[in-house]
Formats: sequence, C-alpha cells, structure tokens
Amino acid sequence: MNWPPRGRNVRVFAGTVSTETNTFVPLPTRLEDFTVVRLAEYEATGFQEEPGLEEIRRLTLERGWEFVFGLQAFAQPSGVVTRAAYEGLRDELLERLREELPVDMVFLPLHGAMVAEGCDNCEVDLVTRVREVVGPAVPIGVSFDLHCHFSDAMLELADVLVAYKEYPHTDLAERGADLFRLISKAVAGEVTPTMALFDCRMIGIYPTTTQPMRGFVDAMTAAEARGEVLSLSLAHGFPWGDVPDMGCKMLAVTDGDMAAAERAAREWGLRFHALRREVTLDPLTLDAALDKALAAHQGPVVVADQADNPGGGAPGDSTYALAALLERGTTDAALGMIYDPEVVAQAGAAGVGARIRVRLGGKLGATSGPALEVDAEVRNVNPGLVQNWPQETGPMWVPCGAAATLRIGGVDVVVSDRRGQVFGPDVFTGMGIDVLAKRLIVVKSTQHFYGAFAPIASEIIYMGGPGAIAPRMTDIPLERADLHKYPWVEDPFA
Ligand SMILES: [Zn+2]
Repeated sequence: MNWPPRGRNVRVFAGTVSTETNTFVPLPTRLEDFTVVRLAEYEATGFQEEPGLEEIRRLTLERGWEFVFGLQAFAQPSGVVTRAAYEGLRDELLERLREELPVDMVFLPLHGAMVAEGCDNCEVDLVTRVREVVGPAVPIGVSFDLHCHFSDAMLELADVLVAYKEYPHTDLAERGADLFRLISKAVAGEVTPTMALFDCRMIGIYPTTTQPMRGFVDAMTAAEARGEVLSLSLAHGFPWGDVPDMGCKMLAVTDGDMAAAERAAREWGLRFHALRREVTLDPLTLDAALDKALAAHQGPVVVADQADNPGGGAPGDSTYALAALLERGTTDAALGMIYDPEVVAQAGAAGVGARIRVRLGGKLGATSGPALEVDAEVRNVNPGLVQNWPQETGPMWVPCGAAATLRIGGVDVVVSDRRGQVFGPDVFTGMGIDVLAKRLIVVKSTQHFYGAFAPIASEIIYMGGPGAIAPRMTDIPLERADLHKYPWVEDPFA
C-alpha cells in the first residue's frame, strides 16, 4: 500500500452531476436546466446548495490535505435527461479528473435516480468511467439521496456507498462526513468496507418525522454507534423512476466481513419490510384534505399538495388546489409556489397595487389542470426570493427566482419564475404574507416543507390530489419496474 503518498500532499477529488428523473414527465431535462458550477466560479464563490460537498471539503482541509474541486451540476427534478446534457456534463467531470491526476480518493455526492436517454442508471455509468480513470486502487465514495435506485452494479464500483437517512433531507452534511470518515479510514488501511444489499420488496413515501419511521432511523444510527456495522442505509427508492432497479433497499457496510454484511442487510431489510403497512403514507383526497383543513378551529393548517411537488419532477403549475379554494370562497388562505414566469413578468410590469387579469398556471401539461383566468391584485413583487431549507448543521439558502404575490379572491398566491418546491415559510414571509394570520396554507411539496412548518402549523395534512406525482403507488403507471412488491403484492416474501 502506497499510503501516505511520498513527496506530495494527499489529494481529495470531489464533484457531482445530479438530478432526480421522473420518467413520466414529458419535459426533458436539458443542459440549460442544470445549474453548473465550474472551477473558476467555484474559486470565486464556493459551492452552491451542497452541504455534503462542503463538509467533505471542510474535513479535507482540517487534515491539511488538498481539496480538488471537479464540477458541480444540479438540475431541478424533471423528465429524462437528454443524452447531450448527461454525456456533456459527465465528460466534463471526467476531464477535470484526468487533469487533476494523481488523486488519492474520489467523492461523488450524487442523487442516485438520474435517467438519461439510452441510460437507465446514470450513476452506474458515471462511476464506471470514474473507476476507469483512477484505476482499482483509488477509493471512490458515493453518496445518494434516499430517493435513489440502489443496484448491485454500484456495489461493485464504489468502495463505500451511503444514502441520506432523513426525510426531509436534513442530514446532507452528516452523510458527507460519514463518507469521508469511511473512505479516509479505508485509504489508510484501517478498515476494509464490505457492502451487501437487500431488496425490501416494497416502495412508498416514508417521511422520517413520524413513528414508526423515526424509531427505525434512530435504531439504524444506534447500531452504527455501537459498532455492529460501519454503515446502514435505507434507500426508500423513487417510485416515479420507471427503471428495473426501482425499489426500497437496505444496504449494510461492514469491516471486511461479507457474511456479516449480508446478514445485516437482510435483517434490517426484513425488519423494515415488517413495518410496510404502518410506514406507508396514506394521503387524503383534495376535497377531504380541504374539508378537514377548513374545519379546524385554529390556524394555520398546512396542507401539502404532494401531487404537484416540483421536487419530485412535477411541473409546479397545477391549479387544482387553487381552483378548489376559490370555488369554496375560502378566505385567509395562502398558496405557493405556482411556477409561471409569464405571470411574474406581468405582475412586475403592472406594479404593486395594480389589478390585473391573469391566465395563471395549467400551462405545462395535462396533469397541471386548466389555466385559471382570474382577476388578481398585485400585493408584492420580489426580484430575488430566497428560502431557507433548514439542515441539522444550519440554514441552506435556496433561490426561488423572481416572484409575485397575487391576491385572488381570498387567497394570497405566490407565483415564481423558477420551478421549485416550498421548503419553509420564507416563501410567504419573503413576499409580504403573514403566515401566522392565515387559517390555511397550501404548499407544493411532499415532505421537505415539514421541518420549517411543523413549529408554526396548528396541523399538517398530506393531500394526494390530482397531479403529475399523485402519491398513491398503485396509481403510478409503472411498466419496467419489478412490481413483485408491496403494495401491489400483500406479502411478497411469502
Ligand atoms: Zn429525496
């Protein structure tokens, strides 16, 4: 073993090309949909919105090692990535790696559910090529979002793979630290990470904020702390990625003991499988959710419009919830964010206080419902709305683009010109809306809103209305994924 390297500093390479691909969304993800940070921009401004990479950099510098930035490219979840976009960004990252050789370890915080034209598993393709560049001796650490497609192929390629544990994802920095710790021990010859995977034969949406999910995640962390395993990762899976690897899977990493890794993956996987009915989120229909919210005596009730969450690839311009609120004559309500650049520009040109006629939302496809032709008062405009997505390590600031608040009937609607989900109340307070004075707030998000809204909400209601990512698993028109899984099969291990 040639460690530590003689005559030069330890060199740690890190970079990412990532997005989450909803294969049912007809809009392709193009090169221009990626926010790309290249070396010059990184040197001027640092990372953007990636606490995992930031943590790896911090720990590298803390040891007096050299941090080598590759490339950071991220796109808001949408449809299948064009071949030109994926291959272009992939090749750019590989070129950076070649330029920087020799390196002693490679970190790739990826998403794990990226699908491109002609490539069902972009991460496997990417890491295969990274392995070809660095050779078999340089450790590669990969981290994934828990909404990923774990595969046996990735276990062959990476030295260590970890996934986020928390949903909402508040642990990006912690997982970056886990990866750094395991890879740096491996490179020093202190451990031999050995990985095994178990298919839990289920799929669903599993927030970790309520029991029994909370307890399950805490139990995984406790097992790691006791040293029973080096790492445990539960991939929840991404049900709107219709690829053969889709599904919920348990990964265990041990120190050089394959039998123990296989045993741990199976035991923890079956333990999770036994919870399948309890952990499955059962959202209310649109009408039932709004009835329940409006019957509450105290506000603000927060209703999650899960079906139009841009964070899962939905367009973010569906009008079903707003139309239902207007039909009911609801007052003291707020809704955000509807993605509609035309209306943001129209409101900005008209100015605060103007009354305008808008054709709002419903423009990106059949799942968005009809555009609403309504009168609106412009209450606020903001050329650069930002929101905090709280992490365990502190705030993470996420830009939302230019935005306008429109008062339509009794509803304050935040419209933005950048597709994105709601992570916190900043989306409303940053637009002049007093969230505590509202009886009802509708947010386009599946679960990431939870952390910042839970402290102020009188109640939280998950709504599975119509939309591109309607959250009932058996409604998803999956064809290529293996459906010998709960909830299609009641007891798939029988
Ligand atoms: Zn996720």
